[in-house]
Amino acid sequence: MTANASPDLLAGVPLGLLVGGHERASHDGRTFAVENPATATPLAEVADADADDALAAVEAAAAAQASWATTAPRQRADVLRVAADLLLEQRERFARLMTAEMGKPLAEARGEVDYAAELVRWFSEQTAHISGGHGVTADGGMQMLVSKRPVGPCLLVTPWNFPLAMGARKIGPAIAAGCTMVFKPAPQTPLTSLAFAALLADAGLPPGVLNVVTTSRAERITDPMIDTGVLRKLSFTGSTEVGRMLLATAARTVMRVSMELGGNAPFLVFEDADLDVAVDAAVAAKMRNMGQACTAANRFLVQQPVAEEFTHRLADRMTALRVGDGMDPNTEVGPLIDRTSVEKVERLAANAVSLGARVVGSGTVPDGAGHFCAPRVLTNVNADTAIARSEIFGPLAAISTFVDEAEAVATANATEWGLVGYVMTESLHRALRVRDSLEVGMVGINTGIASNPSAPFGGVKQSGVGREAGEVGIEEYLELQYAAIPVR
Ligand code: NAP
Repeated sequence: MTANASPDLLAGVPLGLLVGGHERASHDGRTFAVENPATATPLAEVADADADDALAAVEAAAAAQASWATTAPRQRADVLRVAADLLLEQRERFARLMTAEMGKPLAEARGEVDYAAELVRWFSEQTAHISGGHGVTADGGMQMLVSKRPVGPCLLVTPWNFPLAMGARKIGPAIAAGCTMVFKPAPQTPLTSLAFAALLADAGLPPGVLNVVTTSRAERITDPMIDTGVLRKLSFTGSTEVGRMLLATAARTVMRVSMELGGNAPFLVFEDADLDVAVDAAVAAKMRNMGQACTAANRFLVQQPVAEEFTHRLADRMTALRVGDGMDPNTEVGPLIDRTSVEKVERLAANAVSLGARVVGSGTVPDGAGHFCAPRVLTNVNADTAIARSEIFGPLAAISTFVDEAEAVATANATEWGLVGYVMTESLHRALRVRDSLEVGMVGINTGIASNPSAPFGGVKQSGVGREAGEVGIEEYLELQYAAIPVR
């Protein structure tokens, strides 16, 4: 496996498959290229797993399960605690790696390292508190002893947009619960995942507990792995479309599933909102990760009396953002992940304009081969257009207006997705009323960022099944077992 990036950036990053504690090439020796989206140049070649490699990883996870499940919780907690410390010590290294392979500006990449380290620390703290219950049945005849045990070997599949955090939100609770894993990161961003797996080994994670298979042939490796029946849980983060397919596949062996899928977040601005707060929140909710977040504000719904002022203030802020290579400390907005994504965003913008939307402001992009896309604000967006009905995943803010609260809520809920909604209002009663009416798993009230390691992350409707992080995140990796003991 060859590396074309600066040796410094890739130092200590395994470029092979990690199976049973060993780094190795794929069976057929194939590799695939990882590209820097800011320059469209190759960074590295990593091993391209086929089905045989994937089955070897399943075998390694299965072989490690029994002994890992019986480790003392303190031992698992210590691995995670040391890993969190190491992540913070290597913050700059991980941030640069993420920026290089994914494109986000360094400041955001540093924030993601902090978020991931806190997730790992959070699950370290939870490890020693896994508990069960004891009681007596209602008829008084039976004692009930309820205990929690690891689900078993897990298959973890992640997207490219948060290369470190999405892995940490699954690997952290799996380690805490005593599960072994086969981890398939996205092919666009495998380097961060491989570096994270190596860091966990340095932190004391035993061989075989975490196995990493990088591949450009996902559909050819996941089905055979699932069909073994050995993997007992599938945790997937990605698009709703792929999530639906994997749910159907997982049904074949009746796996436990966690699905963190797409979103179409409404961002509601009421006439009583503090517009300074609302515009700050809008920029954060729209522009984090260049708009490539499941939680990104996808539909701005603004009450008519404040629509013009909000639109112009948001346009001023978005068009002033400096777009460029995320490695440049002055960059505020990086490239999109690939050329296809830029083309998709441009198509959505052109389609909306052809159907009556108006571009209020447009930023600029640097010259060069990078996959840059200009931040733009569009107003007069019709709720039926593609831009309002699909995940934009780019720096377009699509604004439409509403007359009253009932209309705002009805429009916000008129989607098959239900991940997150944002509510900008100074009225506590309105905020709580709207929160109660929104069909979403998370609500940001006067904030554009809702995710936090201490809070349950996840959606309703076709945005997913289950929750990650928070008090409940670990439960997704634990099974209940009840023992009946007759009272004598
Ligand atoms: P994606 O195309 O669904 O891919 C996600 C992962 O699934 C990748 O590792 C991908 O690998 C793999 N995959 C795709 N097809 C597969 C198949 N047939 N069998 C097995 N694995 C398969 O999503 P993405 O473009 O990477 O990420 C963007 C999406 O993720 C958006 O919809 C976003 O909303 C969602 N997301 C959700 C959350 C959340 O927490 N709810 C967080 C972040 C992102 P390949 O690329 O090789 O196919």
